[in-house]
Amino acid sequence: MSAVSRDIIPLFDLQLKDEDIAAVVEALRSGWLTMGPRIQEFEQAFAEHLGVAHAIATSSCTAALHLAYLAAGIGPGDEVIVPSMTFVATANAAVYCGARPIFAEVVDRERPVLDPADVLEKITPRTKAVVAMHFGGYAAAVDELIAICAERGIALLEDAAHAPAGELHGRPLGTWGLAGAFSFFSNKVLSVGEGGLLATEDEHVAQRVRSLRSHAMTSGSWDRHRGHADTYDVVDIGFNYRMDEPRAALALSRLGGLQEDVEKRRRLTRRYREQLRGLPGLIIPFDDADVAGAACYVMPVMLHDAGRQASVRRELRERHGVQTSILYPAAHEFSVYTERYPGLSLPRTELAARSELTIPLYPHMTEAEQDRVIAGLSAALDAPASRS
Ligand SMILES: *Cc1c(COP(=O)(O)O)cnc(C)c1O
Repeated sequence: MSAVSRDIIPLFDLQLKDEDIAAVVEALRSGWLTMGPRIQEFEQAFAEHLGVAHAIATSSCTAALHLAYLAAGIGPGDEVIVPSMTFVATANAAVYCGARPIFAEVVDRERPVLDPADVLEKITPRTKAVVAMHFGGYAAAVDELIAICAERGIALLEDAAHAPAGELHGRPLGTWGLAGAFSFFSNKVLSVGEGGLLATEDEHVAQRVRSLRSHAMTSGSWDRHRGHADTYDVVDIGFNYRMDEPRAALALSRLGGLQEDVEKRRRLTRRYREQLRGLPGLIIPFDDADVAGAACYVMPVMLHDAGRQASVRRELRERHGVQTSILYPAAHEFSVYTERYPGLSLPRTELAARSELTIPLYPHMTEAEQDRVIAGLSAALDAPASRS
């Protein structure tokens, strides 16, 4: 038995390079721990990476979403159309603004992204924004959503938490709408622990977000340190949504390896797709041609028979040592939302959420590890249904 076959294959695994750790140590040694030169350097580098005018680092993607919604003018009484097949933060940020998240359907299990046709059905005079989430780092139906929003004067926002190096028609994901929100949470494609970023071309959005990120103070501590300001005014009710310097240093260092990491993810994803293609009972979302532009955050698969989700996951874990997760339990089915909006039914999203399982993927995954996942999944699909 090889070492690999005894170990659990994790859903995700993080390997930091020595230079990443050195960058953090250097930030700590500098004695300046928040909102200093490393934040500015990281923001500039990320803006260049996206080819966008403004990149504003935040404490999390959730914070970036909240600020994006506020900057889009979302407030009490407004409606924000969001997918339900997403992490709950996409919807919660609307509630933070006093608005109502309107959950819309995915296209289907082959394409688990916001369905433009259902968005059209759900637009009302109160609709202020539509939020596209690039599931797994694969582009949402951006062309259709832009057309729908532009025609009606509704803002398109992007939850690009999964997509820091994804693109569509050669244009980076997260730069199509009024603003895009990225996540640097531990298990994301560009991970630093906790962190996020808002990208925008819009000068007004950028100013508002920079201001609200730090209590709407007219000058920051770094400005005052450099003698650019003596005091400050507070001009709005803002937040502490700042990123700190050690994380900016880590993010900047890891940004240098992002493209290479994503290329490795794409190569493993293509290999998964080739080898899983023939397995009966399995749907592999998205098309082979989509992989080239995807950030490949995760490898999602869907079981034809949604009733087998729990048993296949258990087989994989207990017999084959393969960790899986569900991306995502439908947000509208969480208690907090069934209590607020009882009776909401989204059959395609519910079927996708009950069919989905996410199998291991990380840049340094070996082919031997991947083969074990593939063999395990194949055996689990063959296992008699009575085991469920
Ligand atoms: C992870 C995630 C978020 C939240 O990101 P944080 O940085 O943890 O706040 C938001 N939306 C989606 C789709 C995510 O996957």
